Order: sequence, then structure tokens, then C-alpha cells
Amino acid sequence: MKVLEAAFLKGYARMATDGFLQGWHERNGGNFTYRLKDEEAEAVREDFSENAPWQRIGWQEDDHSVFPGLAGEYFLVSGSGKYFRNIETDPAANVCILQLNETGDLFRIVWGLTEGGRPTSELATHLANLEVCKERDPELRVVYHCHPANIIALTYVLPLDSRVFTREIFEMATECPIVFPEGIGIVPWMLCGGQKIGEATAELMKKQDVVVWAHHGAFCCGRDFDLAFGLMHTVEKAAEILVKVMSMSAYKLNTIKPDQFRELNAPFGIRINEDFLYEKKDGRIGCMPEE
Ligand SMILES: [Zn+2]
Repeated sequence: MKVLEAAFLKGYARMATDGFLQGWHERNGGNFTYRLKDEEAEAVREDFSENAPWQRIGWQEDDHSVFPGLAGEYFLVSGSGKYFRNIETDPAANVCILQLNETGDLFRIVWGLTEGGRPTSELATHLANLEVCKERDPELRVVYHCHPANIIALTYVLPLDSRVFTREIFEMATECPIVFPEGIGIVPWMLCGGQKIGEATAELMKKQDVVVWAHHGAFCCGRDFDLAFGLMHTVEKAAEILVKVMSMSAYKLNTIKPDQFRELNAPFGIRINEDFLYEKKDGRIGCMPEE
């Protein structure tokens, strides 16, 4: 089978378009990886070229990072400087499939980027995240980064504290704690494309499916494209509601209370992390738990 005919390629390309149409991928913003299943790689192997040179993986030029947990695997990865709006119309020119070697420290491009280029500058960050995700759930295959405006806007006015950020988002839609009961991780502003921000994100993704990069964007993971896109969509929709609420008032007259959140646990088979269900003194949006 040709890569262009594969369901995983079509699903990836559709999600790239969906994200672009949401306004989450201005210019070449965002990056996106999918860890192929063994049978998916096998099915399109005839389309792979094994002539490309092995390259080091690293955050910096002289860096040499190792991802032993992903050794030998194949990844569908967006290209550096490529535009999400072009992925679906010409996947071969804008994305690539790369393979990691048997020790997980070198990669080679086996398909795609037909007009030249490199995988995303956040490749090491994506691999770091995919590695910790795989460790907690072998079926977590998608890592997605985009620039949703409402989530980013909130990083200017809410405390950059996972408890507060998550709680305020939880209160905006009952589905939020059901969809991500472990809440949202927050990384303060750091230089993107670097090791520090990549490792900080992966540290949070050991437990959490969503990580916000302050004043920049968000990362999420998922078992498939529907779940990853749906997760980002859910967080951004709740963020949009919060932006609307905050544009009317700094206080909420009514909201969902901690005990009401706890009522969701049994019927939905979840365990909402209690860190987010602290008591609040009043309805002021963004107040810290100890205030
Ligand atoms: Zn970005």
C-alpha cells in the first residue's frame, strides 16, 4: 500500500486541516507527531526508502538525545517551517515518516518531505513526550501542539498554577473533568525548541494529557486523532467560555461546586484529581487555593 492511501495518513491530514480551520495554526505554527502501529508501518513498507542518512536527534546542534523507549519505531511528523493548511493538499511535501534506530538515538526519513526540509524543530520534544506517554499507556500515539487563542489569552490573566488554571477551566464545562480528570499542566514561558521546555513538558505528560505553554500554546496527547483533537477542542472551548465570563465580570455568581464535581466520579468511571477541588473563599475568578 502507498502511504498516501493509508488511513493513518488521511486521519493525520484531516486533523491538520481541522486545526487550521479552528485558527490554531497561523503561518507555520504548530507541530504534530503520530507513532505508527507496527501493522501500519508494515502495510506501507513498500513505499519507504532506506537511503536517507541517519541523523542525530537533539534539541541543539551538538546535542545527542536518546529515546530508548521508542527504538526502532516509525513516526509521522510535520515538517519544520511547513504550513498546516498545506498538509492535506500535499502531505508528501509537508510531512515525513521517520524511523528511529535500534538504540533510539538516530533517525532517518523514510518517506515524505519530497521538496526538502527537516522534521519539526520540536522533534526532540515530541519524542520525549511520546516516550513518557507510551510508558503510561502503550496506545498513546498522538502528540499535538497548536496555538489556540483563548487558552493563550488566559495565560496572561490567570495564575500560572496548574490547580487554579485547571479548576477555572473545569468550571466552564461539565465535560472537562470527565475528559481530562488529571487536569492541565502549566509550563511557564521558556524558549521554545529547547531542551528545558521539552523536558518540562514531558515531565508533566507523565501524568497529564494537556500541557499549556504560557504565552505560546498548548500540547496534548491521545490514543488516536479523534481523541487528541477532541481534547484540545474541549479545552479551547472551555477557555473561550471563560474569556467571555471574564469579559463580563471578575466574579462568578453561579458555578459548579467541588461536591458537584465529585458526583461525576462514579457514573463516569473517573477519579477527578482532588488537587483541583479545593474550597474557594468567594467567586473571584483565578483566586489561589490558600487565599
Ligand atoms: Zn508553537
